[in-house]
Amino acid sequence: MAFYSSCYHFITTFSNDTVKKMIKNIYYKLKPIIPRWLQIILRRIIIDLNKDKYKDIWPIYNKASRAPERWTGWPNNKQFALILTHDVETKRGEERCLDLMNLEKEFGFRSAYFFVPEKSKNYLPIHNKLKRNEFEVGIHGLLHDGKLFQSKNIFQKRAVHINHFISKWEAVGFRSPAMHHNLAWMHDLNILYDASTFDVDPFEPQPDGVGTIFPFIVNDGLLAKSYVELPYTLPQDFTLFILMRQKNIDIWKRKLDWIAENGGMALVITHPDYMNIEGSKLSVDEYPAGYYLDFLSYIKDRYENQYWDALPKEIAQFWAGKMKNTLDDKNRTFLNKINKSFPG
Ligand SMILES: [Zn+2]
Repeated sequence: MAFYSSCYHFITTFSNDTVKKMIKNIYYKLKPIIPRWLQIILRRIIIDLNKDKYKDIWPIYNKASRAPERWTGWPNNKQFALILTHDVETKRGEERCLDLMNLEKEFGFRSAYFFVPEKSKNYLPIHNKLKRNEFEVGIHGLLHDGKLFQSKNIFQKRAVHINHFISKWEAVGFRSPAMHHNLAWMHDLNILYDASTFDVDPFEPQPDGVGTIFPFIVNDGLLAKSYVELPYTLPQDFTLFILMRQKNIDIWKRKLDWIAENGGMALVITHPDYMNIEGSKLSVDEYPAGYYLDFLSYIKDRYENQYWDALPKEIAQFWAGKMKNTLDDKNRTFLNKINKSFPG
């Protein structure tokens, strides 16, 4: 803590906006060689320095509530849609998947788990159990090394391997590590949907939010290829509980209530890697699983029968079928405009 305070004090006293931006850039360049504990301290400083600047757009960006043109609502007149997803990045995360699945089942929820193909070695029994219980398995990058979108050449080479795993795992959905994204390049993936964007999240390495709490269709301009984009709309667990050190789920509740009020899609990402299910002493990058379970109880208690509890592939199928021809140029221009208006 003393180290954190000195760094924070030094930066706030001696730096202006340009220096702060420079510090952020240097951090992401050096990240691969910085130890995990120091990464977390530095990211906490970056967030604390910038939090105030974003208070009018995060966690709620009011303009993101605008429904698409000709939108007629969710199936069975449900008020909003709910999607639970998890990114699994380490052995620790992998070992917790099935326990977490069982906890979700107890609450009556299903969810999707995204695995890193080249890192996930013992996936088969886990995938089988998830699928047998009607949970979904998706693809989370290829190596999780931060380089997937470094150049078009790298992306295209890796896309071949990713497509191999998409077919081997019978997956239809993709999420990029660190939410790096280039929606135009992603047409090279054989996917029904991508989930690598967010309505608003200025604390991400690539902070360009898509400015909507609804899915949207991404086509290649020639209308030859398209996929559904599912932005996450609730802040990630890592941001809230590890970086911002929140000790409750108030921000999740506030955002969920706002999404429900506006009839949008509540899409949540959590990581079993950081979710301490065992109740053992928390390490620097863990938070108690109780926070997530509190959130599930909150949804059930407050909104029982009012939401469509869907897997991402079900929402994507629904959206592709219903909205394919209704996302007109006007809406796309709106999304582009929103992208440009976001501070970097
Ligand atoms: Zn990840």
